[in-house]
Amino acid sequence: MNEAPVLLNPGPVTLTRQVRKAMAGPDLCHREPEFAELTQDILKDLESVYPTAEKHYKAILLAGSGTGAVEAMVGSFAPREACTLVVCNGVYGERMGAMLKAQGKPHELVDSGWLNPVDLDAVEKALKSRSDIEQVVVVHHETTTGRLNELSKLGELCKQHSCGLMLDAVSSFGAEEIDFENLPLTAVAGTANKCLHGVPGSAFVLARADLLENGTSQSPSVYLDLFRYAGQQDTGFSPFTQPVQCLYALRAALKELGQSGGAEARRKLYSRRSNLLRDHLRALGVNTLLKGDVYSSMLTSFKLPSGVDYDEFHDRLKADGFITYAGQGGLQGQIFRLATMGELPDATMHKLCVSLTSVFNPVVVS
Ligand SMILES: *Cc1c(COP(=O)(O)O)cnc(C)c1O
Repeated sequence: MNEAPVLLNPGPVTLTRQVRKAMAGPDLCHREPEFAELTQDILKDLESVYPTAEKHYKAILLAGSGTGAVEAMVGSFAPREACTLVVCNGVYGERMGAMLKAQGKPHELVDSGWLNPVDLDAVEKALKSRSDIEQVVVVHHETTTGRLNELSKLGELCKQHSCGLMLDAVSSFGAEEIDFENLPLTAVAGTANKCLHGVPGSAFVLARADLLENGTSQSPSVYLDLFRYAGQQDTGFSPFTQPVQCLYALRAALKELGQSGGAEARRKLYSRRSNLLRDHLRALGVNTLLKGDVYSSMLTSFKLPSGVDYDEFHDRLKADGFITYAGQGGLQGQIFRLATMGELPDATMHKLCVSLTSVFNPVVVS
């Protein structure tokens, strides 16, 4: 196999030729005006991925992976003196709870279990029982299972109890819908290398502009304090060195997103690919982990048929040029996950289906 394998893991993604080429741009000092222009161009494009965000939200670019952006968001906005409610149903929700714990901030968990939707009754009960909850944090697309958490009812509950909502949108920003107008969003964290199709190394937070201007930072960290960045990035500069080549890639990726019809078109494209895989695997007797129409556009978790070992499955697919993704925690060895982001032409999807057929149904020749 000469070609690099196609990535079906939930980020990083297989790059387009343009994005890969962009990384080889000129060396740049991060204190020169050319760098400021690069930053400002990206910030503008990030703010306009969702037109409803443009007016009241400001993007802040950070060096690091998605977790860095989530930690910066929680660190900067979760109050030191009041309680934050962590609504979780997977690894990434639990991780936000761990962040608040590490930051020594008051918090409470509503854990719905990995296979379940967010338990809104339990959220309401928690909000009613504690009057000091000021922020609610939740994962938009829980990549652990592929569930896209429904946000509108949770947003209504937050509004009723005068709480802000913080979103880990690391695996949804750029494809799934985010209603900046009607959700009481304090901030939203995202990354360059998932639905935006950039390279790993750059992440970002979209935060309410009025809070960045007039609020007080709650950050226990120097490096991850969004308030340190906010003022300076208005001029295109950052307090610390940014990953210049990652930003070249991100700028190119954002232009491609715009040219290809934006987040909605991307969601439809991912859905088409995911539906193809779900239908194909169902016909082979391989079922999804979750029931019903609850999946994100970009990822599906499938139950491994009994007798099929994940590592063997992974290695067979890898030999055919595809990188699949295992389950985490208690789902390890029980499921496999397939993401549909990045450069995945129809011909590649077809090859993938042939490969899946040969693994799960060696008798049928596709
Ligand atoms: C990928 C992901 C993250 C961040 O992971 P990194 O490895 O730090 O990029 C956070 N939350 C969700 C929901 C994710 O899918």
